[in-house]
Amino acid sequence: MVDRNCVVGADALKVLFIGGTGRTGSTLVDRLLGSAPGWFSGGELAFLWRLGLLRGGLCACGQKVAECDVWGTALERAFGLDGADAERMVTLRQRFWSIHLPLMAVPPLARRRFDRLEEYPSNVEQLYRSVMEVTGDRVLIDSSKDTHYSQILRLRTDLDVYFLHLVRDPRAISYSWTKLRPEAGFRGEVNMERRNLLTSSTYFYVSDIAAEALWRRDAGHYQILRYEDFVANPAAACARIAEFVGEEIDLTGVLEGNVFKPAPGHTTWGNPNRFETAPTAIRADDAWRSEQTRWRSAAAGALNAPLGARYGYGVTSGARLRQMSRGLRRHDLMGHPVD
Ligand SMILES: [Zn+2]
Repeated sequence: MVDRNCVVGADALKVLFIGGTGRTGSTLVDRLLGSAPGWFSGGELAFLWRLGLLRGGLCACGQKVAECDVWGTALERAFGLDGADAERMVTLRQRFWSIHLPLMAVPPLARRRFDRLEEYPSNVEQLYRSVMEVTGDRVLIDSSKDTHYSQILRLRTDLDVYFLHLVRDPRAISYSWTKLRPEAGFRGEVNMERRNLLTSSTYFYVSDIAAEALWRRDAGHYQILRYEDFVANPAAACARIAEFVGEEIDLTGVLEGNVFKPAPGHTTWGNPNRFETAPTAIRADDAWRSEQTRWRSAAAGALNAPLGARYGYGVTSGARLRQMSRGLRRHDLMGHPVD
């Protein structure tokens, strides 16, 4: 394990980091928590520099991130009128990436790699502190998910990082990656990224194994949450998360039963649902059961069975494996039938 460069003080800014793979419902968890007084939903902050600033992506308030009342002010307070050099931040971040995670097992090599990040961690910390000064909130929620990014925050800043490991049935994740949806953060001018079965499965393994390997033994700073348990009882899940972070949470007026009434927010990046302001019932999204081909569902279950079973998902059976082997000849990797 690589030693921390910084010692976290008692008054350190608390960051609730939602980790794991993509399409686990993290934006909904982020927004629900961030609608409570004192909690701020930042969204996928790892992408703020590239998608928000360089590409002009939209904040949940509808303004471009750089022009948003909250983020624009925070950026100016942190970096002055000229702002931060977003292009350099994007370049620096590429110096510690998923591919470098194995270096964490060799501390001298990892330290050298972290040193190459130069001013990246201190700029990120400065921005996180600045946005909390602007909002006056106590807990910043960062749903970036990438484990390597969480390690930068944990080891190279004074932020007090709490890692919430969010997992979901891999068949639901696999289905979500196939859907063709416009990217609301770019006004629907492009579509959201899609991933084939092998790619989404690879990310499932790499993200979740890395999350466990690097965080699970950090007592008091790691908690796991199944998305299915969250939707079954969001109030109880939020209470457990608040206890984990050591902060009060009051969801009065935000959550009534399973109905979420979003407060106006400034979630920088994530699922397009961050733009929704109407009350929404939080419920299990079972579309993957009916709308995904049986072959793709079986294949996703089988490919992800070892890790899926670890998280309590009964994702495969002998019958499904036989079904998969029959379907393998008749479908492409997106699960679409081929002639
Ligand atoms: Zn905003």
